[in-house]
Amino acid sequence: MKLCEYCMAEFEPKRPDQKYCRPKCARRYAQFKNFKKAGRTVYTRICPKCGRLFMTIDERKVDCQDCIGIDIKERLRKPKKKDDAIKAVNHMARASGMSYGKFVAQMSMEPLERK
Ligand SMILES: [Zn+2]
Ligand SMILES: [Zn+2]
Repeated sequence: MKLCEYCMAEFEPKRPDQKYCRPKCARRYAQFKNFKKAGRTVYTRICPKCGRLFMTIDERKVDCQDCIGIDIKERLRKPKKKDDAIKAVNHMARASGMSYGKFVAQMSMEPLERK
């Protein structure tokens, strides 16, 4: 087992000279090394979601780049709370120029019409 030089996660190297657990980490490490070279402040943080170390030049950033991506993807796939679903339906209703009730009624009628 080796420790990734970027995120400090343990990984099983596929090659003896492998320094990073995944290509992403190698890319980010190189990217932030360049930032440092250019005199930018680079912050190293531990992501509360995945527990990996990550680097950022954004002082306020708390989640790693990967977890932010996952969050957005998950939110798009399925709204977590019922409220979110209602908000989404509300938005669609407004976009199609109907009231919420009318829109929901039409939505629940659709399968019947298709039969
Ligand atoms: Zn890594
Ligand atoms: Zn993370």
